[in-house]
Amino acid sequence: MAYAPQRRVSKTRKRKRRTHFKLGMPSMMVCPNCGEMKLAHVVCKKCGFYDGRLVREIKVEEEDKAAAAETKKEKKSKKEAAEAKKAEKKAAKKKDSKKDE
Ligand SMILES: [Zn+2]
Repeated sequence: MAYAPQRRVSKTRKRKRRTHFKLGMPSMMVCPNCGEMKLAHVVCKKCGFYDGRLVREIKVEEEDKAAAAETKKEKKSKKEAAEAKKAEKKAAKKKDSKKDE
């Protein structure tokens, strides 16, 4: 037997039903081991602890930190280099304008 609604669902009824169609926030908590925010009832991504014991080893932590620091340094040095170039250009322009005068 084919399904057919007994009667039309009114705008109001439809809209009232759909008031509950929404996203919820993920349930987060502070990790009791490392203090980072983590999903509740899930192994901590930062330290790999769950229920007060090490469940999953997280290896690359220190290397990641070092890599991140290096990239930051590189970015900073690049920025500094760009700024130095700009300063040089400005200085050159100023010199040129002085020569013209
Ligand atoms: Zn943790």
